[in-house]
Amino acid sequence: MTNKVLVYVDHFKGEALPASWEAIGAARKIAESLGSGVTAVIVGQDVQSLAKQAIEYGADDAVVAESPALADFQPEPYADVLSKAAAEADVLLLPTSGRTRELAAMVAVDLETGMAPDVIEIAVDDGLVLATRPIYAGKLLSKVVIKERKPQILTTRSRAFPKPEPDASRSGEVTSLEFELGEVPTEVLGYKEAAGGVSLTDAAVIVSGGRGVSNNPSLTPPDEITDEKEQEIWRAQQGFGLVGDLAGVLNAAMGASRAAVDAGYIPYANQVGQTGKVVSPDLYIANGISGAIQHLAGMRTSKTIVAVNKDPEAPIFKLARFGVVGDLFDVVPALTAAFKERLGK
Ligand SMILES: Cc1cc2nc3c(=O)[nH]c(=O)nc-3n(C[C@H](O)[C@H](O)[C@H](O)COP(=O)(O)OP(=O)(O)OC[C@H]3O[C@@H](n4cnc5c(N)ncnc54)[C@H](O)[C@@H]3O)c2cc1C
Repeated sequence: MTNKVLVYVDHFKGEALPASWEAIGAARKIAESLGSGVTAVIVGQDVQSLAKQAIEYGADDAVVAESPALADFQPEPYADVLSKAAAEADVLLLPTSGRTRELAAMVAVDLETGMAPDVIEIAVDDGLVLATRPIYAGKLLSKVVIKERKPQILTTRSRAFPKPEPDASRSGEVTSLEFELGEVPTEVLGYKEAAGGVSLTDAAVIVSGGRGVSNNPSLTPPDEITDEKEQEIWRAQQGFGLVGDLAGVLNAAMGASRAAVDAGYIPYANQVGQTGKVVSPDLYIANGISGAIQHLAGMRTSKTIVAVNKDPEAPIFKLARFGVVGDLFDVVPALTAAFKERLGK
């Protein structure tokens, strides 16, 4: 392996995160500036097929590290292996995910170099990568350079870089990495799927609901629901039903504000924001969400933002490209009907 630009292909049990391919696209641009190629690094067990995919998405070749001990992601052994693979590289890109947050930091410590997480723009100047990343909950963009030339470690935010078109005719060498693993201090005992199963971070379109989804006093709950909190939840279910209909027509994932999650309207897996998921879809439709800074922290890099809110002073309108001042219980069904007609559904 002579390439100086490496991409770690993040995956769960052999299924790659789409953001891994986006990172390969970003890596190609860096490699062109550095006059290098791109090598994909794949760590796991039974993951050879990912090497072929990585090459189809633009890697020139791939290095695979396989072992039964690597069947489950665990930061310690994965960091050992990736540090070995990246020791001679100039640049190591990883897609940002819960796993790579730990992994990239551990590799940076192992290799005594710097790391820039959650990068949204990349440029190359005099052989060094200039990374732009949001800080202070997205209020500021900071430009970071890692002064060490070997290796500069960056994690790229999901959907911030275009995903290359795969080309099945591409081919490249796939080599195995030789490595020895020390004692692994932890063991994965199993997985439990989170409710909802939405992949918010990969969605091109997200339709979200906030506290406003429960605010329709004219909706009368059934007689058997007498408790006030249960009546609120019932109203929220009607509101989220409408939000879900719109999401369905647009093949969108459903998002939510923390207020909606805390009130028990929708599971935490759907929360967008500083303490939820960070998303960058092409289209983000916020319904009944005021636009608190902590919510904006999770969605301000969305390409087009649409807000539906009955308060014309709601802060979300400052960020939104298109805003509808109105009651979501009227506006959302009207949007659903209009999209249905336009999309022929
Ligand atoms: C440390 C910390 C971390 C946080 N992390 C997050 C986070 O990750 N994500 C997050 O979202 N928040 C987070 N928050 C909470 C955040 O500060 C806000 O409280 C929250 O985002 C508000 O949610 P909301 O906009 O749904 O509710 P509200 O602020 O109550 O806004 C509801 C909006 O709905 C509108 N509305 C009401 N009825 C209707 C209707 N019928 N039709 C149309 N519009 C209507 C109202 O005009 C209002 O603008 C965090 C807070 C802290 C302190």
